[in-house]
Amino acid sequence: MPGSSRGALRAALLYLLASVVWLVLADQILSSLFDDSTQVLRWQLINGYVWVAATALLIFLARARLLRCFGLGDQGRIERERLRMAAAVFDSTLEGVLVTNRLGSIVHVNRAFMDITGYREDEVLGHNPSKFKSGRHDADFYRQMFHSLDHQGRWSGEIWNRRKSGEIYPQWQTIRAIANDAGHTSHYVAVFSDISASKHSERERAHLVQHDPLTELPNRLLFHDRAEQALAAAQANKRGCALLLLDLDHFQSINDSLGHSIGDQLIKAVVQRLQGLLEPGVTLARMGGDEFAVLLEDSPQAAHAATVAQAIIDGLKDPFVLEGHTLFISASVGISLFPGDAPGAEQLLRNADSALFKAKGNGRGGYALYTEELTAHAQQRVEMTAELQRALAQDELRVYYQPVHDLASGQLVGVEALVRWLHPERGLIPPGEFIPIAERTGLIADIDAWVMTQSCRQMCQWQAQGHELDFIAVNVSSRLFGHRELYQQVARILADTGLNPARLELEVTESAVMEDPESALEQMHRLRELGLRLSIDDFGTGYSSLLRLKRLPVQKLKIDQGFVAGLPQDEDDAAIVRVIIALGRSMGMQIHAEGIEQPEQAQFLREQGCELGQGYWYGRPMPAGDLSFG
Ligand code: C2E
Ligand code: MG
Ligand code: MG
Repeated sequence: MPGSSRGALRAALLYLLASVVWLVLADQILSSLFDDSTQVLRWQLINGYVWVAATALLIFLARARLLRCFGLGDQGRIERERLRMAAAVFDSTLEGVLVTNRLGSIVHVNRAFMDITGYREDEVLGHNPSKFKSGRHDADFYRQMFHSLDHQGRWSGEIWNRRKSGEIYPQWQTIRAIANDAGHTSHYVAVFSDISASKHSERERAHLVQHDPLTELPNRLLFHDRAEQALAAAQANKRGCALLLLDLDHFQSINDSLGHSIGDQLIKAVVQRLQGLLEPGVTLARMGGDEFAVLLEDSPQAAHAATVAQAIIDGLKDPFVLEGHTLFISASVGISLFPGDAPGAEQLLRNADSALFKAKGNGRGGYALYTEELTAHAQQRVEMTAELQRALAQDELRVYYQPVHDLASGQLVGVEALVRWLHPERGLIPPGEFIPIAERTGLIADIDAWVMTQSCRQMCQWQAQGHELDFIAVNVSSRLFGHRELYQQVARILADTGLNPARLELEVTESAVMEDPESALEQMHRLRELGLRLSIDDFGTGYSSLLRLKRLPVQKLKIDQGFVAGLPQDEDDAAIVRVIIALGRSMGMQIHAEGIEQPEQAQFLREQGCELGQGYWYGRPMPAGDLSFG
């Protein structure tokens, strides 16, 4: 029985005993004092009342004392009070406070923590403090910290951490291990202050302003200064300089998938490797993120700069091994030359940036030089837009038709309409040169509508001449495919030309479908309601989800010519083609191969069960009049 109940029982027994003794004694005293029994009875009654009043008073006094006792000993309340006070202190200090449990999960942070780090409470609770690692300290640093916590129960020192914004900063931090009653560590409390402002002397501050804190390399500011000085010296000595702008390809995906800490370690490892590749005295700067600049102060020719760029690209190809991850990266480099490309540092940087853009556009992992040609290229695009408008208005576009054959019988069964531009000066321009521009400027809608109208009309004409084809295929730009107007446009053209919708096939690229599968699906269903057929063009290049493909109301897959080119020798191509055919057929689709240039390719495809084919072997795209119906 607990002590408190035993005490209560004892008190009750005592009370019972006292009451009995009191009643017996009072009875005897009253009987000895009074002879008259009515007198005795009255006094017994009075005695009873007095006893009740006295015990009531006693209970009151006892209870008041008891409450006071309890009030003073209410450990829970005191604890709560103390915690409230501690929380108030935590919240009003300028130091950041972070409490983790024994396992390292954050259980509490204060207001200053949020101010300093930029994180909200709900973004860190339950997380591990390694979330804030800056990447500046090696594994040894953290090992020593934990060793000290394990053995001395505390650690203090300077540590660089990362704010939510990504910025890294120094903090002075004290960590204490908190033990529970049993003497085991139950929590860790870290108290820290942001010393980025106070830490540095003037000189250090100047260094900080001009250097990247992670790699200690010159930053954009200092690089700009150095470039200006170098250009001035080069001009005086009639020397050439080169500026290389280097960008790691897909670095962001490493950062996103493996975290900032690995990202930072990778940046440091890249810098180390670059420093080993470059000759001493060459300025290497970190321009931000994953972008670096190299200034070659004596680089007489483009070939020299290109050699350095290639050496950098090759040098970064070997994998980096960080914390058990093997990372392969590649870099793209843009090169701008002084004085050839630009008269000053500012312009030189801008041009190197354009060249870098060009390098990335060329497929990454390579370098590109900034030349006048690049600017000319841009100008040419602007001019072409105006010219294309004119081309449409003045009927300079042409539709060519490429025959499609049944692979088994060899018969002509359909055609694909392919647009050309008959330029008055430049001759026949292939669609690859103007379709992308038309797509960017919105002219594509007019072009595709025009091609579709011409094609439907042509098909009607062939029918009228007795040439029966199963279908005429028309390409629809991915830019238009998402638009609702496409449905109305197709419906109108079919109505205007009177072509049987079953004879029209629309080719959509795989990427157009995958960009926005839901709206593509809706569009496809509506188009199907018109009675036409749909095919997926350039299949195999767009990383389709097979599950989605199954849901699409598509009647045909067109195997991209890139896979056909290697047939039948290339084993990879052969395997891919086999899979596409098997897959498409299992979904009840017709398979159509493009780019057939040799009879062996046609034979291989036929053997694998591909039904239709088109390519130079059967016939190039040609004007309608040249098509032979045999
Ligand atoms: P696509 O729809 O995949 O068309 C097939 C391309 O392969 C055509 O190029 C055709 O000439 C070419 N080709 C056919 N057989 C062979 C072959 O045996 N060997 C090789 N090397 N190539 C062959 P083209 O006419 O230059 O068209 C290129 C692309 O431009 C087309 O690819 C299509 O995506 C687009 N395009 C063409 N006309 C139009 C159009 O009217 N509207 C839209 N939006 N795009 C069009
Ligand atoms: Mg096509
Ligand atoms: Mg194609």
